[in-house]
Amino acid sequence: MKIMPNRLDRGFYRYQREFEDKALEVLRSGWYVLGREVESFEEEFAAYTGARYCVGLASGLDALWLAFRVLGIGAGDEVIVQANTYIASVMGITINGATPVFVEPDAYYNMDTEKIEEKITERTKAILVVHLYGQASGMDRIVEICRRYHLRLVEDCAQSHGACFDGQMTGTFGDIGCFSFYPSKNLGAFGDGGGIVTNDEKIARDMRMYRNYGSEKRYYNKVVGANSRLDELQAGLLRVRLSHIQELEEERRRIAARYAGELDNPLLVLPEVREKATAVWHQYVIRCEARDELIRYLEERGIGTIIHYPIPPHLSEAYAYLGFREGDFPITEHYARTVLSIPMYSGMTQEEQTQVIEALNHFQG
Ligand SMILES: *Cc1c(COP(=O)(O)O)cnc(C)c1O
Repeated sequence: MKIMPNRLDRGFYRYQREFEDKALEVLRSGWYVLGREVESFEEEFAAYTGARYCVGLASGLDALWLAFRVLGIGAGDEVIVQANTYIASVMGITINGATPVFVEPDAYYNMDTEKIEEKITERTKAILVVHLYGQASGMDRIVEICRRYHLRLVEDCAQSHGACFDGQMTGTFGDIGCFSFYPSKNLGAFGDGGGIVTNDEKIARDMRMYRNYGSEKRYYNKVVGANSRLDELQAGLLRVRLSHIQELEEERRRIAARYAGELDNPLLVLPEVREKATAVWHQYVIRCEARDELIRYLEERGIGTIIHYPIPPHLSEAYAYLGFREGDFPITEHYARTVLSIPMYSGMTQEEQTQVIEALNHFQG
């Protein structure tokens, strides 16, 4: 039996009837961009996170770069971000002409809060915290640092829908929480989608303006905006998925619990969850010094895996202009050489889980 790292089809068939009904309803409505479905989704997603406002956008990357645009952060400004993130986090900063300042991650793959203050300069305007792999970062410390240094706080929640720190949902700690609804995310659409949450009415209003060519009133354009509108079909389908989110979270938690309880190969480092934090297991990421052998070994047994991420942003060709070299962020680079995401998805059967566990436990390096 072949096991893939993800099975988006299972996520669809699980609620097939509801998805199909909603899709037909939207197709037949005659209204396809920014309408009732988007408004309802925004209300429901805001309520789910506990934020006052949600604004639907076209992607997670748009959520990030528009967040910094709305906050007025651009050329000459610095934004602190963890070095081991997905490159989109960094692009959200640099699209605006601002400079990313990288911080090494901690043992939970999130920003090491002990290493933030040494990076703060008079140009620092914001911290972009990424709740990587679905686990909440150490928000008590980060919020305190933002207050003390008068920094804006933006959260990249593309992988953390539903993850909490001290009972509060990620995305609601700072000025703006940025979400992606890309199909493989924990709350995924059937195409691209994104959004932000905020408690600030002006930020919400500005974001609505920016997503629609900088216009609040038709053909009256206040700023140079973007075309970043969530469409009705995706919003409708997201509402279906959101209505089952508790069940979907539970399922991932159960798979993660099985992995944590049954994987016992000393060659593997399993993920741990920070005190006060919860994880929604967007990925289940293990570490292995013989990672590349492990990938081949699993492949031979029909088990697919993914590396999140093999090249850290500071070593990516796109950011050669920042002038970093190998060795500049040793923890990040070590993670890039050793991390491996094992299969974790909605609809993963008990047999599939068992097959993954047994294969991993028999790996001898
Ligand atoms: C997926 C992702 C993004 C980008 O979202 P898109 O919808 O693909 O643009 C940003 N940051 C992180 C951490 C992500 O995982």
